[in-house]
Amino acid sequence: MLVDVNVVLDKAISLEVDDDTIVTRMSGRRFCPTCQTTFNVRVESMRPQVEGKCDNDNTDLIIRHDDEENVVRYRLDIYHVQTKPIIDYYRNESLLAEINADRDPNEVFKSILSEIQ
Ligand SMILES: [Zn+2]
Repeated sequence: MLVDVNVVLDKAISLEVDDDTIVTRMSGRRFCPTCQTTFNVRVESMRPQVEGKCDNDNTDLIIRHDDEENVVRYRLDIYHVQTKPIIDYYRNESLLAEINADRDPNEVFKSILSEIQ
């Protein structure tokens, strides 16, 4: 805990997105092994122009092991186990702001600003 090293927080912010949404987003990720660009077939602005091909160099896109659903769910399970005590701590201290992050990034940013002003 940060309190153990004499760091005092005014506020803790938790950006909330449910696991199914995260899994859906991650499973849309495609990676170019040549130029390292990441695309996402589920996000309009991040789709490759030609399905399965890199826009930069026409390399076949791949799904990284880390983005496979079972791996994402496993990582989320670990995240929840490790994070829950921290979330509970700051909630009990009345310092926790939970923000719905399954929205437009600009809206999420505005919510964060309003919490820290
Ligand atoms: Zn590429």
